[in-house]
Amino acid sequence: MHLIELYKSVQGESSFAGLPCIFVRLAGCNLRCAWCDSEYTFTGGKAFTLDEIEAQIKALSPCTLIEFTGGEPMLQAKELLPLMERLLAERYTLMIETSGERPLADVPKAVHKIVDVKCPGAGAAANTFRLENLDTLTRNDEVKFVLSDRTDYEFARDFIHQHALEKRAGQILLSPAFQKTPSPQRTADNMALDPRKLVEWMLADGLPARLSLQIHKFIWEPMKKGV
Ligand code: SF4
Repeated sequence: MHLIELYKSVQGESSFAGLPCIFVRLAGCNLRCAWCDSEYTFTGGKAFTLDEIEAQIKALSPCTLIEFTGGEPMLQAKELLPLMERLLAERYTLMIETSGERPLADVPKAVHKIVDVKCPGAGAAANTFRLENLDTLTRNDEVKFVLSDRTDYEFARDFIHQHALEKRAGQILLSPAFQKTPSPQRTADNMALDPRKLVEWMLADGLPARLSLQIHKFIWEPMKKGV
């Protein structure tokens, strides 16, 4: 499996935000989101066997929460899925951050999927979500929308209602995008969409969603890697 990095930090997003977490960042992505903050994953990476990855994870213990992210981890599903089965058998709690552009039916049900449905503001990546992946969602899973503006918000709002997402997933996350080149300051001024505005829209519409700020971009400088 090709990895960019493997490290321990605190989870920055989702309902697991704030918990210690081991991040396994896989190399490669088939999308190109306009606001992507992980372009360094598109190329390169180093190959490791599943035994080597498991040993690296164990070296970072005690920590029982693991997130597979990227890039797009499902591009390496052939090796990733067996690794998930091994780690679940060892009682780790697993998460995967994915765009949902690849089929998710084979991801073990015990793995918490954080599925990032791309909005119009994602540019070329918009509308790449595979709708049949909605049928794979359980209450273990979370659906995330990264929002750049009001158009993205309305897309997310309509998608939530159209697909009754609150009945399919455990959480619906609305996450303001960060500017492409944020300042080193740890401030909401770096966001492309003012979170206060987003909260006003959510409350006005009574949306069954949770505001999700990427807390790692407030703990460390927004562009810092490996945290
Ligand atoms: S799917 Fe993720 S890694 Fe790929 S381009 Fe979009 S934000 Fe970047």
